[in-house]
Amino acid sequence: MKANLLEFDRAGLERFVASLGEKPWRARQLLRWIHQRGATDFASMTDVAKAFRGRLAECAEVRLPPVARDSVAADETRKWLLQVDAANAIETVFIPETGRGTLCVSSQAGCVLDCAFCSTGKQGFNRNLSTGEILAQLWIANRALGRRQGADRPITNVVLMGMGEPLLNLDAVVPALRLMLDDDAYGLSRRRVTVSTSGIVPAMDRLAEECPVALAVSLHAPDDALRDQLVPVNRKYPIRELMAACRRYLERAPRDFITFEYVMLDGVNDGDAHARALLGIAAQVRCKFNLIPFNPFPGSAFRRSSPERVRAFAAQLQRGGLTVTTRKTRGDGIDAACGQLAGDVADRTRRSAARVHAVRVPIVEVNA
Ligand code: SAH
Ligand code: SF4
Repeated sequence: MKANLLEFDRAGLERFVASLGEKPWRARQLLRWIHQRGATDFASMTDVAKAFRGRLAECAEVRLPPVARDSVAADETRKWLLQVDAANAIETVFIPETGRGTLCVSSQAGCVLDCAFCSTGKQGFNRNLSTGEILAQLWIANRALGRRQGADRPITNVVLMGMGEPLLNLDAVVPALRLMLDDDAYGLSRRRVTVSTSGIVPAMDRLAEECPVALAVSLHAPDDALRDQLVPVNRKYPIRELMAACRRYLERAPRDFITFEYVMLDGVNDGDAHARALLGIAAQVRCKFNLIPFNPFPGSAFRRSSPERVRAFAAQLQRGGLTVTTRKTRGDGIDAACGQLAGDVADRTRRSAARVHAVRVPIVEVNA
């Protein structure tokens, strides 16, 4: 099979062109054509020597997953469903805001971690995405969006907050991050690329070493007993170890704080006592809090905290000296909000069926 040039970061592409007997600087030309100009056809790469273009056409290609669905919500949030193979489709979401545009990218087909409130987790896990499949999401969105009015470029920020746990797929994620930052590819600053993790402690250290972009940590509970239930990986990496890893990360990080994500689940983790306990944890790490009102999905067993509760919780944290933002729900009508991305994943863990039988709590639909 031909080599897919989307799989290579700069170093990989330099090795590839060297294997064809070319100088490393050819890699720079290719990066620019592929990622900045969106070229897939070598014949169009006019400043690349003709003989080399012919050679590339024989042994390489720019291969993108087909777009199975492309939907736009009333608030202009846009979602793509990409068919990464015959059995798996993954989702990518673009969230336009004044002065910036954020692309939410998936890192795995499904997720093995099975957080209690997450639609992706309920799908079970099938496989890691490759570097090219992660990058293709940015490539496709960039092309589809073109230039938006008032913005130099449509995508100013990338968050790895789509389907999957990026820190369980670092071999593919790190080269993808490097391309996002590379001035000859997407040229984003480290502060504008955020990896979100449920708290895979050793991988946090590795990310700090290899590509320290902004880090968001899905906290969701102030104590181990509750976090064990909501984010089962907490049993392996409990809060104390997670906080220590956050502090180590900050020694290398481009931002001087960690963003703690906190999904607001009615009557579960949203009480005054929870907020008080969070203040204790937050004192150990330079951080900001991002409250995410729970987004329901078919079969979910939680309710979203009321807006009053979310406001009171935020106010309590703020009185304790924390910076708190509350995430707006976006993409209503196209299931594009946090935690609603399910794609279409062939579940090798066979979790979905088991789960449906296990859910005994009544299903409550909450309107946004
Ligand atoms: N696996 C990574 C990144 C993907 S999830 C992680 O867990 O951090 C991105 C964010 O959405 C996480 O903070 C996750 O906890 C949150 N989330 C998952 N399901 C949600 C739901 N139903 N409602 C609101 N937020 C949710
Ligand atoms: Fe996986 Fe993140 Fe969903 Fe948990 S919240 S199941 S880690 S994608």
